[in-house]
Amino acid sequence: MLVLSGVAAAERPLLVTLPDPNPVHVTEAVAPYNTIFLNRCASGCSVTGPSNNNNSSAVPDQSPIVNGPHVLSKFTFGDDTWNKVNACVRDTFSPFNVKITDVDPGSAAHFEIMIAGNPTDLGFAANYGGVSTDGCGSTYLPNAVVFAFANTYSLSTSCDAACVENICATAAQEIAHSFGMDHSHNKLDPMTYFNYMGRKYFQTTADQCGSDCSSGKSPYGYTCSGADNNVHTCCQGNSNAAATQNSAAILTSLFGAGTLKIPTVQITKPQQGASVQAGFAINTTITADAAITKAELRVDGTLVDPVVMSAPYAFNAPTTLQPGSHTVEVTGYDAHGTPGKTSITVTIGPPCTDDSMCSAEAKEVCIGGRCVPGPNATGGLGMTCTGNEMCGDSNCASDGTNMYCTTKCTAGQCPSGFGCLPIADGSDAGYCWPGYSDSGGGGGCNTGAGGSIASGLVFAALLFTRRRKR
Ligand SMILES: [Zn+2]
Repeated sequence: MLVLSGVAAAERPLLVTLPDPNPVHVTEAVAPYNTIFLNRCASGCSVTGPSNNNNSSAVPDQSPIVNGPHVLSKFTFGDDTWNKVNACVRDTFSPFNVKITDVDPGSAAHFEIMIAGNPTDLGFAANYGGVSTDGCGSTYLPNAVVFAFANTYSLSTSCDAACVENICATAAQEIAHSFGMDHSHNKLDPMTYFNYMGRKYFQTTADQCGSDCSSGKSPYGYTCSGADNNVHTCCQGNSNAAATQNSAAILTSLFGAGTLKIPTVQITKPQQGASVQAGFAINTTITADAAITKAELRVDGTLVDPVVMSAPYAFNAPTTLQPGSHTVEVTGYDAHGTPGKTSITVTIGPPCTDDSMCSAEAKEVCIGGRCVPGPNATGGLGMTCTGNEMCGDSNCASDGTNMYCTTKCTAGQCPSGFGCLPIADGSDAGYCWPGYSDSGGGGGCNTGAGGSIASGLVFAALLFTRRRKR
C-alpha cells in the first residue's frame, strides 16, 4: 500500500476506488470537455450521494461513492502550498489537452478533484489518502468528482516538497481512475502505489499494472503474480482487461496532445557580441514549469563535454578555440524532454599578455592569456564562494578547508597575493589561490577576503592538496 514519508505506518493513506452503485459507462473516444477543476473547498464542500457524479449544479456536489450529506473540510495548508499543488497538477497533465483550473466552472461540464479535507469528513476510513469512482470499463465517467484528502499528507501544519508531490500524484491518480485507468507497476507513473521521490508523470510505455495487491488480489479482483506478486491484468478503458497500460496514450486518445511549454534559456554571461578569450565562462538561467534535467553547450554547432546534469548550468568554452567569431548555443531540457535553447555570438581576440589588455572597468586581470575577474571584482579571484555560479570565471574551488573563486593557471601567472596552487594530479596546472606562494613561501596562510567558510559542502568543486612547488 502507499507509504507516505512523514506519515506513521498505521496511518498510511490508501488510494482506493469504489464501485459506482449506479454506473453510467461512456464509450466516446474523445471527451466532449476537458476542464479539470481543482477544488480546495475554501468554505468546505457539501458533498452528497449516492446518485451519479454531478458537479454541474455546484451545490451540493454529488458522488456515487459518498453516503451523504457530508462536508469536506477545506485545504488546510495555505495559498503558497495550494499554488505549488496547482502548478504540479498542471505540469503533470501538460502533455495532454486538458485545462486545469482552480476557478469553479459552475454549470459548465467538467471533471473535479476535491483536494481538501480528511477521509473521515466523508465517512471514509482514516487511512484513505484519496478516493475515486471506479471508472474501469469506461472511457471516462461524466462529470466525475474524486477526492484527494490533502490534509492527511502531513502530520504538521505545513506541507513540505514531498507532501506537495504526494497530494499532486494522488489527485492525478484519482481523476485518472475516472478515465478508466488501473494502478501501474511503474513507480514513475502517478497511477502507482509505489513510492518515488520525484514528480510522477503519466508514462508513455506499455506498463504492467499492479503495485496495489493485497492477499494476492488487485482491488478489481485480478489475481496477482510476478516476482513481487504485485502484478496483475489491467482493468482499462473499453476493453476492460489488458496485459499492459500506456497511461499517456490513454490520456492522449481521450483529450488529444497538449502543447508543451518550451523551457526558457538565457545566457547571462558573456553578453551577445562580447570579446572573450578561449576557455571563457558561460553562465545561464534556465526555467520551466517542470524540473530542468540537463543542459548542453554547443560552440559553432559542436557539442562540448560534459553535458551538465544539475544546477548551476554553467560551462567553460574549450581552451582550444581560435581567434575569430564563434556561436555559443545552450540547450536546456525539462522533465518532459522538451528542449529550449538560445545562442549568442562572441569574438575571441588574441590572448592578452598583460592586465592593460583587459577591462579595467570590470577589474579584470590577465592570467594565462585570458582576461578574468581580478581580486577586486565581484566574483573575482579569492572571493569566498559556495558554487560555481558565484564566480566570474565559473570556478569555485575547495582546498579542503576554504572555498574561493579561482581560475586556471601555471606557476608565475597569478596576481600579487596569489600563487598557482597545483592540482593534485602532479601536472604543472593549478588554480590561483590566495596566500599561496609559487616560490615556496607563505603556503598554508589563508589571506582570502571573508575568512574561512564552511567545509563539507557537496558540489562540483575542485579539490587540491596543499603542497609547495619545488
Ligand atoms: Zn488508485
